[in-house]
Amino acid sequence: MKLYSTFSEFRADLQSGKVTCEGYVTDLLKEIKNQQDLNCYLETFDESALDQARKADAKLKAGQAGKLAGMVIAIKDVINIKGKKVSCASKILENFTSVYHATVIEKLLAEDAILIGRTNMDEFAMGSSNENSAFGPVRNPVDKTRVPGGSSGGSAVAVAAKLAMTSLGSDTGGSIRFPAALCGVTGMKPTYGRVSRYGLVAYASSFDQIGPFANSVSDLALVMEVISGHDEKDSTSSPKPVEPFGQGLGNSISSLKFGIPKQYLGDGLQPEVREKLTAAAGYLKSLGCQVTEVELPHTEYCIATYYILTTAEASSNLARYDGVRYSFRSKDPVTLNDMYVRSRSEGFGAEVKRRIMLGTYVLSAGYYDAYYTKAQKVRRLIREDFTKAFDQVDVLLTPTSPSPAFKIGEKTTNPLEMYLSDIYTVSANLAGIPGISVPAGTASDGLPVGVQLLGKHFDEQTLLNAAYHIEKANLK
Ligand code: GLN
Repeated sequence: MKLYSTFSEFRADLQSGKVTCEGYVTDLLKEIKNQQDLNCYLETFDESALDQARKADAKLKAGQAGKLAGMVIAIKDVINIKGKKVSCASKILENFTSVYHATVIEKLLAEDAILIGRTNMDEFAMGSSNENSAFGPVRNPVDKTRVPGGSSGGSAVAVAAKLAMTSLGSDTGGSIRFPAALCGVTGMKPTYGRVSRYGLVAYASSFDQIGPFANSVSDLALVMEVISGHDEKDSTSSPKPVEPFGQGLGNSISSLKFGIPKQYLGDGLQPEVREKLTAAAGYLKSLGCQVTEVELPHTEYCIATYYILTTAEASSNLARYDGVRYSFRSKDPVTLNDMYVRSRSEGFGAEVKRRIMLGTYVLSAGYYDAYYTKAQKVRRLIREDFTKAFDQVDVLLTPTSPSPAFKIGEKTTNPLEMYLSDIYTVSANLAGIPGISVPAGTASDGLPVGVQLLGKHFDEQTLLNAAYHIEKANLK
């Protein structure tokens, strides 16, 4: 069967009558089963997806179709879809069924999208390799012995393997951009507040954002346009108007100034990734853009600050899984306390427990000021670094990941080394700014490499357009 990598291509074939949504979804569901070894889907929504496909066909025929009619979308298993399970790839929520739609789901369905299934991920979105899922690791389709990146690995793989046209992930410290880079697709973390978090299971609430993956920047822009905007159910969502992002693609970017942060070119960066970054910069220069070096002086504190603040928030957010309300309950507990302890001990995986312990420690009475308060102050300094950089340039160009995809099992015994993978991505979440990862060719072993663009708050349009140009360059 022909697998469609982009929605625009599928839409053209729909219009010429070559395919129908129903026919394609029927075949795709079979193909997903054939490719189960990737482990990117935890569940496919066979019945409801076919139902949505039939409705999309009818609406297209009647000329009443929404913007996304026929778009097959996969959803990270951390976003609530009414009537479907939402497990966050954790044993503790394995049998929990969602009772309401997240706002992003309402918006996708209002535009006639087809929700094909829920994707595997690191448990509660904690991880960089997708090896922390209670339901097994996800494999990188380019080389199945390697990780796809995390935590939204399933969503990245579904798109890379053409088992969905687009997907949604969540990004707290790089979980969209990092797997996008490792799998050779594009992925965007919007500005904090751009997309409603209502219905997204919380990891670290002041960092989390939902965002899309796609095989083309124009598909990415289209999904962004649909999911963005103010939501009265999320008080941190912004009332700023949403531009028609797709229409702004292709405008000249020759007047844009790009900055490469000096601190991002240090030791840990693999030479081949650096070469791709240089090639992308060279291409931008050839378009007439200025590319200069800029300073982000507090970069060395980003990882520590990120892991203090996110574990603190996580330890508080995850307190709700106590075995009493909607989570797994251990069998035959003796006392109330025993029930709490055993339910949480048996329900959570090792990485989640590690973070709850770290988080409760940094929030404990004797250490609160030394760690939590201090980290909040450093977060402010990191944010100011970006404000100053954006006084000089419009967009920052950086690597997304220090290296291409690593082997499954390579970093699992050393959590600190795993945390260092996030070095180029966590800063955007600390500062609340938008970021996008766009493919920039492959390394000598054929593994994809991505570059990251970071922009001013709410300047998604400029980022998408710059990414569109880099995509057109077709860097090798
Ligand atoms: N790898 C980072 C972490 O484990 C980022 C995760 C994310 O963005 N959800 O916290």
